[in-house]
Amino acid sequence: MIYCARCLYPKNHPLNLIIDKEGVCSGCRVHEEKDYLDWDEKFERLRQLTDRYRSKSGKNYDCIVPVSGARDSFFTVHVVKNILKLKPLLVQYNQHYNTQVGIRNLAYLRIVFNCDMIAKVVAPQTIQTLNKTTLIERGSMYWHCLAGKSTFPVQSAVFYKIPLIIFSVHQGIDQVGMFSHLDEVEMTRKYRTEHDLLNLEIETLIHKHPHLDRLNLEAFQYPDDREIQAVGVRGIYLNNFLRWDSKEQHELMIDLYQYETKNQFRTFDNYNDVDCHHYSGLHDLIKFMKYGYGKATDHACREIRLKRMTREDGIKMVNRYRDLYPPDIDLFLEWMDMGKDELFEYIDQHRDKEIWHINENNNWELKDCVTKHHLEPKIISDARLVYQTNCEFRKSNNEKIDISDNSYTIIGRGFIDGKKSSSPMTNAVQMPSSSGISQR
Ligand SMILES: [Zn+2]
Repeated sequence: MIYCARCLYPKNHPLNLIIDKEGVCSGCRVHEEKDYLDWDEKFERLRQLTDRYRSKSGKNYDCIVPVSGARDSFFTVHVVKNILKLKPLLVQYNQHYNTQVGIRNLAYLRIVFNCDMIAKVVAPQTIQTLNKTTLIERGSMYWHCLAGKSTFPVQSAVFYKIPLIIFSVHQGIDQVGMFSHLDEVEMTRKYRTEHDLLNLEIETLIHKHPHLDRLNLEAFQYPDDREIQAVGVRGIYLNNFLRWDSKEQHELMIDLYQYETKNQFRTFDNYNDVDCHHYSGLHDLIKFMKYGYGKATDHACREIRLKRMTREDGIKMVNRYRDLYPPDIDLFLEWMDMGKDELFEYIDQHRDKEIWHINENNNWELKDCVTKHHLEPKIISDARLVYQTNCEFRKSNNEKIDISDNSYTIIGRGFIDGKKSSSPMTNAVQMPSSSGISQR
């Protein structure tokens, strides 16, 4: 396997990486733009762009913001509502695997930002049938989450005739440098199908099980081009317009709005995926079983690029989390009424043979791994960024008390006692110190 000499990504990253003659990957190269682009100018462009979408009649929302009880939702709504002064409609696809922390964060979000929100909750049997089908077809228990989260905002935009959707970060830019920030790439059906949906659209799924008919899969039916064009729907990404730093942004949200963190089983980042029992558990083990690396690698790469972690410390993190067997497997298997052997059999069908092989004992074995891969020291030192600061993740107050949470909370309490809406004016000036946006 070929590994980036700066971060830890392998060449078989499913979003595709290009590694240049210096041994540095396209994700690291595009990330360098964060340090030299004029982010003040870019944010001004965002202001001008979004100004054009303000509801002229005042009778409709200015934009749609997809949200969850975690990952960038607070920050995105903070920017849209309190900095850009837009009136958003928040939309949430309910992923079913919800933690109590995620449900509480979602209630906080709705209250402190004082926004209207709509949710899509798909019937459990449909999710279970879909899960089994997508595990067989693609080795994925997360297809419905990715499909639902990329479909419901577009359906809502068409239905409510709100042309502008504001997403948080485009993973193709931030992880692998598929596009430059200068491209200001927008939402496309093509990227969604090829990457979010693993090239598996509902037209294929409809024939796989009698329960998977068009009505039951309505939540995953992307509107057709004529409907999208009639409203003029476009989806933009905030990370094209402000210097994206997930860790710093989450810390601001903890300080301003008491965003809750949660310990994650297979990675050190306890900010991003706190709303899901499986994202950094079973889902991540599946990712490792398919591609030979997991979330700890993703998060270490991000921190290396932001100069808060050395490559060597990143490798230690991969070593620490790579082989952990996540306890949330039992929760999923019980809900799915599925045996462990059956689950692993499905996933084994989708292992990337570039990195996995079956050894003489008939066990799957990694051919290579960043923790033992040899790269010339000079290539690594030439690619190295100047380390600037440490990488400590904070715990919010809820993490300091023991909360036992070992079941899915499909729908929870929609409000939090003692929480009040924030005054937009109070928080309007707050941006992360490195965002590049002038403190106004
Ligand atoms: Zn890299």
